[in-house]
Amino acid sequence: MLKERIDKFYLDQQKDKDQTHFYITDVGKCPRAVFFKFKKVPREKMDARILRIFEKGEHIHRNIFNILYRLRIGVTTEVSIPSQEIISGRADAILCIDNENYVLDIKSMNSMIFRGLKEPKEENIFQLQLYLHYFNIKKGILLYIDKDQQNIKEFIVNYDSKLVQSLLSDFKDLKGKIDSDTIPGRLSEYPKNWQCRYCQFEDACLMTGDIEVNWENLKAKIELANKEKK
Ligand code: SF4
Repeated sequence: MLKERIDKFYLDQQKDKDQTHFYITDVGKCPRAVFFKFKKVPREKMDARILRIFEKGEHIHRNIFNILYRLRIGVTTEVSIPSQEIISGRADAILCIDNENYVLDIKSMNSMIFRGLKEPKEENIFQLQLYLHYFNIKKGILLYIDKDQQNIKEFIVNYDSKLVQSLLSDFKDLKGKIDSDTIPGRLSEYPKNWQCRYCQFEDACLMTGDIEVNWENLKAKIELANKEKK
């Protein structure tokens, strides 16, 4: 009775927004899945439990912000990157420690993943590198928090201009595909890649096949499948 209402509250908040530029969180993600997001391809809804877990992560962020203010090292929190045409994003914080500026990115996870974390995750490094680039700051901190046990690990990351140029070039390639309605090929490790295991576009990906395809072809297939369902 109440559970269903709470679940519905969370589920109703999932809306497909129009996407006109990339988010920093898209970096390192499957290009095909990002393409599908831009084209608002129907996707599997996340369940309410997962949405509650995300919300818990947001509370952890707010607690850390509070501590940064009290320590007087949080120069600014939740700061958007300067506007430009291709990417938007918001870093968790910019800090000043011992007269040096850092971009802070906070990630929370369950104890099992946290315990296995020996080095920062690649996709988190990619995001942080883009923040460093757009804020013109040379160092960043990836702060990982164990949601269950409240343990913390931190990794210092130095700006790597070569890596950033290659990430930006990947975004430009993908933008070209979005504009020309060309669905990118699948990830080479499909379906074993971890992103495929959690992908909300599994059905559309299956319908598309392995290689690059014109978006109009898939759109027609989706429309036909929807008609047949009715
Ligand atoms: S199933 Fe895998 S390859 Fe297909 S869109 Fe999703 S992440 Fe990409």
